[in-house]
Amino acid sequence: MRVDTHTHSTASDSTVSPTALMDEARAAGLDGIGLTDHDTMAGWDEAAAMVAQTGVALIRGVEFSTRYHGITVHMLGYLFDPSDIRIREHIAKMRTARVDRARAMVERISADFPLTWADVEEQIGDAQVVGRPHIADAMVAKGFAADRSEAFERFLKPGGPYFIHYYAPETTDVIGWINDAHGKAVFAHPVAPQRSRMVPFTALDEFAAAGLFGVEIDHPENDGRYIPELTARVQRLGLARFGASDYHGAGKPNRLGEYVTAPEILEDLVAGTYLEVLHE
Ligand code: AMP
Ligand code: ZN
Ligand code: FE
Ligand code: FE
Repeated sequence: MRVDTHTHSTASDSTVSPTALMDEARAAGLDGIGLTDHDTMAGWDEAAAMVAQTGVALIRGVEFSTRYHGITVHMLGYLFDPSDIRIREHIAKMRTARVDRARAMVERISADFPLTWADVEEQIGDAQVVGRPHIADAMVAKGFAADRSEAFERFLKPGGPYFIHYYAPETTDVIGWINDAHGKAVFAHPVAPQRSRMVPFTALDEFAAAGLFGVEIDHPENDGRYIPELTARVQRLGLARFGASDYHGAGKPNRLGEYVTAPEILEDLVAGTYLEVLHE
């Protein structure tokens, strides 16, 4: 059984719709995917409508933006109660925070490049959340960069000339919300220092104490040098080992299904959760 537990759609910042993502998952020979758009559940229903047709099982999730001592941490939440009030408030708050931040970044960029908010809006399309990838796409469309990767490298990465932080709640709070809503929390790409500052390994102990279920050890952006120590700590804390592609369509080089999560971990993942995995 091959299940890629971390993917994105056009509900956030991927270039593929939930429908196309399910078709691509079937073509890639996957038995299931986790749809984990950033701070939104907006892609779930469209993907769910494709389960019967594709035979691809669907694990409904969200990639929560959080903050640990000023460092951005992405926390995957799976199979929680979608009516949970604190999760709904998080989603509403992040939507605004992300727009405010993107507008402020565009403001800064427009001092050096002829880029307007309307250019970015064109790229946002139907997405329910705005991210730097939409700004990157607008810069690519204007010819200021060749692709998303170059736009991030030159302009948009943390420490870059136009980067601005956005509000995000405390990581341990979010782990608590996910658990209270009968979901499972998994720490996404924990050792990817080229995308943003890494949290110290000791943070894992705090996250585990707050109710963390698993850690994405197998992820294309994890730095291999940290994997032995990460794996040892994950085992010592009794956390589950996850593997996933973080597929974003044409927006990133990550290939759908390039990493998967083991079947025995998936069995534990679905135990006692509010939502079920959707099968054909
Ligand atoms: P934001 O949500 O605005 O902080 O943007 C983060 C998103 O940008 C994540 O989905 C990343 O996958 C994406 N991202 C980060 N670095 C890069 C990069 N170098 N190239 C393409 N996408 C990136
Ligand atoms: Zn993304
Ligand atoms: Fe992420
Ligand atoms: Fe992601």
